[in-house]
Amino acid sequence: MIKLNQTHDINLTSWVTSANTNSDFPIQNLPFAIFKRKDKNEAYRGGVAIGTQVIDLAALAKLNLFTGTAQTALEAASQSTLNALMDLGVEANSALRLSLSKALQNNSPLQGALTTTLIPQTEIEFGMPCLIGDYTDFYTSIYHATAVGSLFRPDNPLLPNYKWIPIGYHGRSSTIGISGQDFNRPIGQTKAPDAIEPCFGPCKRLDYELEMGLFVGKSTQMGELIKIENAEQHLFGVCIFNDWSARDIQAWEYQPLGPFLAKSFASTISPWIVTMEALAPYRSEFSRPKTDPQPMPHLSSKQNSCYGSLDIDLSCFIQTKAMRDNQQTMAQLSQSNFKHSYWTPAQLITHHASNGCAMRAGDLLGSGTQSGPTYEEAGSLLELSKGGKTPIELPNGEKRTFLEDGDSIIMRASCSKQGAAKIGFGEVVATILPAKV
Ligand code: CA
Repeated sequence: MIKLNQTHDINLTSWVTSANTNSDFPIQNLPFAIFKRKDKNEAYRGGVAIGTQVIDLAALAKLNLFTGTAQTALEAASQSTLNALMDLGVEANSALRLSLSKALQNNSPLQGALTTTLIPQTEIEFGMPCLIGDYTDFYTSIYHATAVGSLFRPDNPLLPNYKWIPIGYHGRSSTIGISGQDFNRPIGQTKAPDAIEPCFGPCKRLDYELEMGLFVGKSTQMGELIKIENAEQHLFGVCIFNDWSARDIQAWEYQPLGPFLAKSFASTISPWIVTMEALAPYRSEFSRPKTDPQPMPHLSSKQNSCYGSLDIDLSCFIQTKAMRDNQQTMAQLSQSNFKHSYWTPAQLITHHASNGCAMRAGDLLGSGTQSGPTYEEAGSLLELSKGGKTPIELPNGEKRTFLEDGDSIIMRASCSKQGAAKIGFGEVVATILPAKV
């Protein structure tokens, strides 16, 4: 795991003054995205957020201000996807982060040159940060797994394998989109419990899932195992991930092989990827109740126990069409924290590769819905509405069991800790359009 270094110093400030007060993107963060300027016929390339600005990494690479592995990483980040940068691994990425941090600090001699590479974030549009070759979704919140299991299998909510292996399934990467990806309500086959036969039509129980997305860094070859002590050398960074779910399609199709069309119609990621190095100050201990099975030796290490979890505050909001029409602010649905996860990022990637499965730079691992122990920390409407039985009331008097056309879901994430700068992930937002029938 990456140790604290000079780039995390809470006292650092930037000559980009918007980074110094109340920003998701202070100099201690430096997250990556792929972008281009709006309405310009130009190539997508890598960018790093600083305050209200983005550093154009392709423009910066051309200035040849950095040297060695930092310049190599900068050139990799100039491409139209971040896959090459991710595949360079943590040392090269760390060298680039240190160079960027120094160049952006107050009194840097590079200020004049770097100023020419800044573009206001209001003038850019985002692309997908990388080519996601494979996407795996896990199920790491035991609170979510128990709540959902209770609804789908009241007699047997948590299956016996849950506490022994990180449960996951392989999803589709073809319909993962970037924040702002509006999509049509999915259509599918559903069967009401009392119906004799299923029917085909628009989903009636459309839901969101509040998740984190973990991007794989350095690739591995088929047959190459990842020791848990080295696991995070294969993780690049983290985004916010909304894994949209059609609960009625899911209930009918999910047995015996797991989720399929109930999940593959859309998933939305936030544009900025916060690197594992930026997250170093917000590590949290990982432990299990003594009465639970402890992780097997290959999924356990001292580091993982001391610092394996990530303390990331998560919040989820809704803005309905009526709220937009009446200029009302969005309403908070829940808040949770990634540290509640029953499995750590290191355990997920070690487990994933433990059968010899090759991991490729840019692969995406969804954490699973991050519900916490209390009702207010539920990460989906399925839980908040108790399986659709109890509508929730929004501040403007509207009610929801599941999502309606025109609803926008907004998710945010941030990290704060005594003695460290507060950093944020920005947000992921998407709006549901009517079904195409
Ligand atoms: Ca999910």
